[in-house]
Amino acid sequence: MLERIRIVLIGTSHPGNIGGTARAMHNMGLADLALVAPRCEPLTADTVSRASGADHIVHGARTVETLEQAVGDATLVVGASARSRTLPWPMITPRALGARLPAELASPEARVALVFGREDSGLTNAELQRCHAHVNIPTNPDFSSLNLAAAVQVLAYECRQAWLGQQEASTPAEAAPPQPLASHEELERYFEHLERTLVTIGFHDPATPRQLMARLRRFTLRARPERMELNILRGILTATEQQAERRD
Ligand code: SAH
Repeated sequence: MLERIRIVLIGTSHPGNIGGTARAMHNMGLADLALVAPRCEPLTADTVSRASGADHIVHGARTVETLEQAVGDATLVVGASARSRTLPWPMITPRALGARLPAELASPEARVALVFGREDSGLTNAELQRCHAHVNIPTNPDFSSLNLAAAVQVLAYECRQAWLGQQEASTPAEAAPPQPLASHEELERYFEHLERTLVTIGFHDPATPRQLMARLRRFTLRARPERMELNILRGILTATEQQAERRD
């Protein structure tokens, strides 16, 4: 289960935090690290020093340019943020996230990505809106922002607790979903198609979006669609586009 949990760091600017993340991950038995457009050299003396023997995790990390590349295959994407947003996203506590993991990862093709933001500005709204859920580590409300590697530590700990609980109970995880869930990449292709179609039929004006796409994203992500269900929705969009073309 732990092998299929990926830690994704976006735009990290301090190599020490990458080393600290590697240590936190290795302590808890996680190994899959992805760096999205790091704003520093990932492997420096600071990295190695803070990794304290876990720098192999950084050597094995994948560095990519975009969030999509880091989480394209994930069936559950969760964004970690200390801040609440104007358009609230489905929230989950670290403990509740851990409790969900055995069932989420029951099927061998399932992948979970935990996404962390920049040290100075965190995750953007657009990045959070690409996640199924927003995990917030409950803290002192007057001082809510943890160091990046410390935030990774808290969530990695909850992952390990969930895994240990599963081992102890030695009960099979809840039944896997009957159909594979849509991956992040499939969802993104669907959102592009949906937006294009809504513009074509005159329902959506990209010049005055009024959070329409964000709301549709939140609604769709909350539903956790299966791949098959998304294919049906895309079929409906294609038929809609064809009808619209005929009328032109
Ligand atoms: N100043 C930033 C916070 C950066 S902390 C801001 O305004 O958002 C770096 C990253 O650590 C955050 O992007 C988030 O992914 C994680 N993090 C820090 N504190 C957290 C908390 N209380 N809950 C969830 N994630 C947190």
